[in-house]
Amino acid sequence: MPFQNVWSPDAWRARPAMQLPTYADPVALREAEGRLSGLPSLIFPGEVSQLRSRLAAVAGSKAFLLQGGDCAESFDEFGQQPVESTFRVILQMAVVLTYAAACPVVKVGRIAGQFAKPRSSEIEVQDGKSLPSYRGDIINGSAFDAKDRQPDPSRLLSAYSHSATTLNLLRALSQGGFADLHEVHRWTADFVRSSPQGERFEELADRITQSLAFMAACGFDAERAPQLHAVEFYTSHEALHLHYEEALTRLNERTGRWYGGSAHMLWLGERTRQLDGAHVEYLRGIENPIGVKLGPTASPDDVLRLIDVLDPDAGDGRLVLITRMGSDAVAERLPPLLRAVRRAGRTPVWCCDPMHGNTVTSSNGYKTRDFGRILLELRGFFAAHAQEGTYPGGLHFEMTGQDVTECRGGAQALTDEALSARYRSACDPRLNGSQSLELAFMIADVLKA
Ligand code: PEP
Ligand code: MN
Repeated sequence: MPFQNVWSPDAWRARPAMQLPTYADPVALREAEGRLSGLPSLIFPGEVSQLRSRLAAVAGSKAFLLQGGDCAESFDEFGQQPVESTFRVILQMAVVLTYAAACPVVKVGRIAGQFAKPRSSEIEVQDGKSLPSYRGDIINGSAFDAKDRQPDPSRLLSAYSHSATTLNLLRALSQGGFADLHEVHRWTADFVRSSPQGERFEELADRITQSLAFMAACGFDAERAPQLHAVEFYTSHEALHLHYEEALTRLNERTGRWYGGSAHMLWLGERTRQLDGAHVEYLRGIENPIGVKLGPTASPDDVLRLIDVLDPDAGDGRLVLITRMGSDAVAERLPPLLRAVRRAGRTPVWCCDPMHGNTVTSSNGYKTRDFGRILLELRGFFAAHAQEGTYPGGLHFEMTGQDVTECRGGAQALTDEALSARYRSACDPRLNGSQSLELAFMIADVLKA
């Protein structure tokens, strides 16, 4: 079906839609959609333009993107502490990367809306019993229970209210002093000094401490340089649940354009990027920056066609191509994509997700990822860009500030046996706070090399 010039927020409904739930009660679904469409947008169009201009700087190799957060947020594991700790670790990573890359770092959370999950299998089997798979809290519950696994439209409204509460906290933390650069670095300096995992990074952390002392001596305090005291922080999630996204789409009277109101940036998943599919159709019509996940099966032709549809006017800061090839495939699969896009004269942001191509099952049955493999894919990403003369613009992580045991390895040397201690993710394994920071320091070494 050809793409129409005229777009509407519900045009996706005429296309094949993968990964969407079937609700037993369509009337309840319509009611939930109706209520959502009367609620305020969670973001403001001016913020979307600002993020696009920040991403345009990344595309022009003048800034770096850091995107991170949970695989899936949960309605239960919710509250001040999880949000605050994840936000804090993202800021800590950003400070290390800002220093190493010597350029601004654009900070985007997988947060305040990351509630819908694509699944490889429709059903999950446990002890001989099979139930529909868990698809994220916006759709059904994670407990292995028939009632919980039933898609429930009232969850759309809960997702909105959890997103609004989280976003409110993030806005307060960003602007109210929590994100003060000196404070953020003090946490990192403490981590480096007081933990065996941090010791190796003492030299780099000390150099940052010295730079901050130098700036303070020159008179750059919070009053004269307010940017030291607050941060710009943006939200993002996978635009999977199109009923939800459509209901929060708003026309801005001033610009005459449509905006996805559920987050600043939305991305298209690896499983829903079919060119004639519903998800591409929805995302092409909104102004927000769009991420596109690209796995090892993506061909240069697929990527060029996605660029044509999602970014026909080569708009500033519009597209972020998030490659997730796996540590084994990155050297072979990534360069042809970079080459084809460069030859087509396009300069999207290229971002590496070193998580989703490196998921394995541990000897004791946990879904996990090896710290070493994650680092290998990151190195492969930087090497491929160096080889093709393109700019490795950003990183995308599944991570949390909490001390979970979900990914193996790292300086804590987490083993298969250790995974059971605090494995909390209902979906994919996340880097914990210590592993995330450790990775930022290791990337800093690569960037400074
Ligand atoms: C994700 O980001 O959680 C995800 C499912 O990624 P992908 O679409 O790349 O598999
Ligand atoms: Mn995931």
